[in-house]
Amino acid sequence: MLRLGQFTVDIDGHRIVDGVDLVVPAGEWVTVIGPNGAGKSTLLRAVGGELPFTGVLELDGVRAHDLRRRDRALRVASVAQNPVVPAGMAVFDYVLLGRTPHMGFLGRESTADLAVTTEVLTRLDLERFARRTLATLSGGERQRVFLARALAQEAPLLLLDEPTSALDIGHQQEVLELVDELRRADGLTVLATMHDLAVAGEYADRLVLLDGGRTVAAGTPAEVLTEEIIGRHYRATVRVFPGAHGPLVVPARPGPRSGLDQGNHPNLGP
Ligand code: ADP
Ligand code: MG
Repeated sequence: MLRLGQFTVDIDGHRIVDGVDLVVPAGEWVTVIGPNGAGKSTLLRAVGGELPFTGVLELDGVRAHDLRRRDRALRVASVAQNPVVPAGMAVFDYVLLGRTPHMGFLGRESTADLAVTTEVLTRLDLERFARRTLATLSGGERQRVFLARALAQEAPLLLLDEPTSALDIGHQQEVLELVDELRRADGLTVLATMHDLAVAGEYADRLVLLDGGRTVAAGTPAEVLTEEIIGRHYRATVRVFPGAHGPLVVPARPGPRSGLDQGNHPNLGP
């Protein structure tokens, strides 16, 4: 479905993504993790067609370089880390923008485009916001609208750059469960980036760890999320516990506890 071969992105003479090899079969969910500045967003933006790259990018066996903009948009939909929101635009019209690659020469929406937009809004529980402007929504509601626009595009590959970073733990789960449900129902392929390692491990089939633009680890969540690998690349001390859907990564402050926290303060004793 998606194949990257020695995929490389240079910005202003700096190598930001450096020779990444990756295959994401249809229907699989792969999440790219890595410390701040590792190149995760740059990788996704280049796959999404927003940045030039060198190397190989194949979508369904077709080289991306050979695809016209519109044909590429029919294959890949993305949700950026910080999408630019057109001021004053209503939610319905914003989600309808996702239909652009399906529209004809004159760019006029068809009945089918309106129907798909309505259906996606319903599916994401956003109908009641259809006439509201994006600026009036909460962070979580807006995040669902961004996802709705990408889903309205009906592309088989979905790129999600930290789709839940603005969300509290409940809305985070809601959005990720929804993406997983859509993946199972529609056979979507998902390439995401995620900040929270435990959450990344719970939702992805495979993880790719980037550091300095290079793949430094790849495999199942259990293979990648180890205390040793996380310690080395994030310079963090963590504990990893087995969980039902993947390893649970918990930050663990190095060194012993001190002072009152030791639990042996005379006034707090039994
Ligand atoms: P991540 O998403 O993993 O945090 P990014 O892909 O956003 O990382 O950025 C990777 C590196 O590329 C960072 O060091 C960032 O400063 C650099 N970078 C991103 N965009 C530009 C740009 N337009 N010009 C120069 N450097 C950039
Ligand atoms: Mg990023």
